[in-house]
Amino acid sequence: MKQINHIIGGSEVVSTSGRTSPVFNPATGEVTAEVGLGTVEEVDQAVAAAAAAFGPWSETSLAKRTAIMFRFRDLVDRYKEDMAGLLTAEHGKVLSDSLGEVQRGLENIEYATGVSEHLKGEFSQEASTGIDVYSVRQPLGVVAGISPFNFPAMVPMWMYPNAIATGNTFVLKPSEKNPSVNMLAAELLDEAGLPHGVFNVVQGDKVAVDRLLEHPDVAAISFVGSTPIARYIYTTGTNAGKRVQALGGAKNHMVVLPDADIGLAADAAVSAGYGSAGERCMAISVVVAVGSSADPLVAAIEERIPGLAVGAGTDADSQMGPVITAEHRDRIAAFVEGAPSEGATVVVDGTSQTFEGDGFFIAPSLIDNVTPEMACYRQEIFGPVLNVVRVDTYDEAIELIAANPFGNGTAIFTRDGGAARRFQIDVDAGMVGINVPVPVPVAYYSFGGWGDSLFGGVHAYGPEGINFYTKAKVITSRWPDPATSSIDLGFPQNI
Ligand code: NAD
Repeated sequence: MKQINHIIGGSEVVSTSGRTSPVFNPATGEVTAEVGLGTVEEVDQAVAAAAAAFGPWSETSLAKRTAIMFRFRDLVDRYKEDMAGLLTAEHGKVLSDSLGEVQRGLENIEYATGVSEHLKGEFSQEASTGIDVYSVRQPLGVVAGISPFNFPAMVPMWMYPNAIATGNTFVLKPSEKNPSVNMLAAELLDEAGLPHGVFNVVQGDKVAVDRLLEHPDVAAISFVGSTPIARYIYTTGTNAGKRVQALGGAKNHMVVLPDADIGLAADAAVSAGYGSAGERCMAISVVVAVGSSADPLVAAIEERIPGLAVGAGTDADSQMGPVITAEHRDRIAAFVEGAPSEGATVVVDGTSQTFEGDGFFIAPSLIDNVTPEMACYRQEIFGPVLNVVRVDTYDEAIELIAANPFGNGTAIFTRDGGAARRFQIDVDAGMVGINVPVPVPVAYYSFGGWGDSLFGGVHAYGPEGINFYTKAKVITSRWPDPATSSIDLGFPQNI
């Protein structure tokens, strides 16, 4: 059985905990590897390696750091098929989604290659007579990243390229469900010339996370995962005096106005609701059908579902793969099965479709006449289930979204530019799509939701990421004019 270990100070380190977690191929249900879950001492070892590397790394010139990032960018590009293969093997998503994930991660590495531009300070000459004021940003020290199962390559790439490029050293605690891709990332960073100890990987679960949260030498934590854990990470980490950004779960609403192109909206709902089996924090989970859009929209989504090929991610014909575990599949099925007893209408019941073999497959479901008090609306399902909430007016749609505790992404489908503009102003969410169902910002903007989708206020990657991984310093400086110096410095006396 393949064993997955830590990477500490540039070397593989085998966990001594005696505790392991199985890594599945979700398409077959087979256990393909075991990951050793880290101990407190192993986390300490990783933090010590990162702390030792920090001094020299933070003093490495911007030119050298940039060159390493460029080499890493090229290596990820060269090995993207291998990365995608690992993602499909341990996450289950179809290969095209896996490649898309690597590509979106790559954007963040490309952004980090611009670190010398991002770290430029400000300068005010002669702020007062003989006084200049200027600002710099300095790295924090050892920073840690804790990432979820659903984007095993991309979400860490939201974190470590910017953290490292700005002069920090990094300890990554990836999801124990699909850890292999970050072992490859560590190899590629090594090949790119990153000094040992700058990037470390500690495999593990709550034990490793809790040690990172309390470790006195960890200056900051970036977390992405579910809302209850994000809240815990934020509270515990900030109590320990750390800088914390904690991105949580989501329940993303897509509003369809009566004037929308129904075909376009239905295509968008299907790809954004069922793509990656709904295991995306920016997946559309609730379609808010306004007025007369509802009947044709539900019919158009229903019509499209049978055309969606569900199968192994390695099969070129598959459009949707399995979900991450058997337990998760059963949890998703329970939402669909429970919906009628709460008064909803199951239009397409994905739970009734059976699959050969032991893979964790569940077909797409469509639930209509959902209301906000139902379980399938209140909770993040994180699976291939679209809920349709029918409302009479645009204002009701806005109120519905505002009342929902999550506020990650949202979208509107309309042909009316004025309505779209009104929506982008009115709506309570951090990322808004206009005729775009999954509005994940490009790497030079920052990613973050509102409400229970983000604790700590600072969004991930882009300019806010650079700020998160650096602390600001403002210098106020006075130098007497050499012309008035009592020592002859060789300056003309009346310049
Ligand atoms: P999760 O919260 O279960 O796990 C995330 C990380 O926290 C993992 O590394 C895990 O090992 C660790 N962890 C789990 N339980 C813990 C505990 N009790 N104490 C300490 N650490 C713990 O999330 P997941 O199931 O891996 O990922 C799916 C969730 O992530 C969904 O809710 C999804 O919406 C969310 N997500 C959010 C974003 C975003 O940008 N807001 C992006 C991707 C995923």
